[in-house]
Amino acid sequence: MVMPTPRPSTRRRSFPVTVTQLPMVRCAECGRTMAHRAGEASAVLTAHYQQSHAEAVRS
Ligand SMILES: [Zn+2]
Repeated sequence: MVMPTPRPSTRRRSFPVTVTQLPMVRCAECGRTMAHRAGEASAVLTAHYQQSHAEAVRS
């Protein structure tokens, strides 16, 4: 397998953003913080509630 010509310029690029900098959402019931992807806070919270706070979800 022949690799294309390497480009040192693209490899030297440094990103100011931390690799795994995910937004955090905090559970109001147990105060546990969970990382989630952007825009998925409600989905992560809902899944956590269904697992750890099934009684609170039931209405
Ligand atoms: Zn919780």
